[in-house]
Amino acid sequence: MPDHSSGDPGSAPRDGSDGTARDGSDVTARDGSDVTARDGSDVTARDGSDVTARGRAALLGPAEVRALAEEFGVRPTKQLGQNFVHDANTVRRIVSVAGVGRDDVVLEVGPGLGSLTLALLDVVDRVVAVEIDPRLAERLPATVADRAPDLADRLDVVLKDAMRVHPADLPVAPTALVANLPYNVAVPVLLHLFAEFDSLRTALVMVQAEVADRLAAAPGSRVYGVPSVKAGFFGHVRRAGSVGRAVFWPVPQVESGLVRIDRYTEPPWPTDEAHRRTVFAVVDAAFAQRRKTLRAALSGWAGSAAEAERRLLAAGIDPSTRGEKLDAAAFVRIAGTS
Ligand code: SAM
Repeated sequence: MPDHSSGDPGSAPRDGSDGTARDGSDVTARDGSDVTARDGSDVTARDGSDVTARGRAALLGPAEVRALAEEFGVRPTKQLGQNFVHDANTVRRIVSVAGVGRDDVVLEVGPGLGSLTLALLDVVDRVVAVEIDPRLAERLPATVADRAPDLADRLDVVLKDAMRVHPADLPVAPTALVANLPYNVAVPVLLHLFAEFDSLRTALVMVQAEVADRLAAAPGSRVYGVPSVKAGFFGHVRRAGSVGRAVFWPVPQVESGLVRIDRYTEPPWPTDEAHRRTVFAVVDAAFAQRRKTLRAALSGWAGSAAEAERRLLAAGIDPSTRGEKLDAAAFVRIAGTS
């Protein structure tokens, strides 16, 4: 018999709160329309359909997270970045700010005990969850069957390292990535997925706050670097909120932030693998020697400082500039010189 004693499907959150997004931020859908996500529940999808949470999943609170971890014999490990969310408001807010609609196929990386998975299933018709920990991957379908019985057939669980997952590993092509990423591998996972899955139109990820700042930084900012340029190669990147430590078990040592990436609908440059690798090689070289001028930093990549200077000038870039000042478009131009 399912135990929904601490929150029947359809009932108000156990914490008695109303699901109000703390930052009250407005988000814009991929089609450019406004998706006002103030109450964490009413969201309009790209196709204009109403995607109000169905209220058919019993979300996990602190007691449920602890009980599931104990039942599964899970001791959260730092190596796998296992900090589980136990706050219904937070997971509702993530789903809301993601702007996903019923017709989206959501790829969730690291579903863990299922906190975010349940909130996703309450809104979208298909979730594919990729989890590296076999104990968690094995148990997730039962948790969903227990807490959201009529939504359980919308979930596929794939036991896999998200750093090595390819389209052929998934039963269906995902349109959106929504995840509370394992913090130690957040950037490589995010970049791998955008590179590997052309079908991904958008991503809303929770990462360490500093990493969120980095990903969304603008050229010239103190924290602008390789992740900022590479994420900007794929799409528009922006900070989409902050999350405190208290919503996790175990409590992490860092604050968290939300980042949204909307892939360019009409990419300003080719995004095929060969071109991406060429551009990323320039980015890596430019930032490998921070505080050096591009003329010096790119000398190894170009073959000599003189050749680096020639190519920078050909791209319309002052050779005494530093990489920290260039946007993705400028790196694309440098990579395109010969
Ligand atoms: N989504 C859950 C939540 O919000 O409570 C758990 C998030 S926890 C921060 C990260 C999850 O990612 C854990 O379940 C962990 O086992 C999983 N994980 C860690 N490294 C992974 C990898 N390389 N590929 C897939 N999953 C991974």
